[in-house]
Amino acid sequence: MNKKLLQKLKRKLEQEKEVLRKELRSFAKEDKKLKGDWDTRFPKWDGGEVGSAALEKAADEVEEYSTLLPIEYNLELKLKNIDLALEKIKKGAYGMCEKCGRKIDEKRLKIYPEARICLKCKK
Ligand SMILES: [Zn+2]
Repeated sequence: MNKKLLQKLKRKLEQEKEVLRKELRSFAKEDKKLKGDWDTRFPKWDGGEVGSAALEKAADEVEEYSTLLPIEYNLELKLKNIDLALEKIKKGAYGMCEKCGRKIDEKRLKIYPEARICLKCKK
């Protein structure tokens, strides 16, 4: 792969990383001990309300929490793949398929720069 394309993909990965982190930060917090692990914030009980209105509100929040979990999981996974790709760029091992060890098609990397395996292995 030529240097120019590698730089371009690196920038793309870094930009995407920022966007993903921002998105994650809007509803989750990063686990300080486990790098790259995010936890969706469970809405805190404010204790201000009582009765059925409060119960309803709590139920809504639980529902919101369970909706956010799979989103968080997907964002986190994508972020991990991006970190991995950036790590490979640093080591000079970027663009190789993790399964067969062959070069991943540049066309694929342009669309999906965090790809870890080639199209053949994906099938
Ligand atoms: Zn492969």
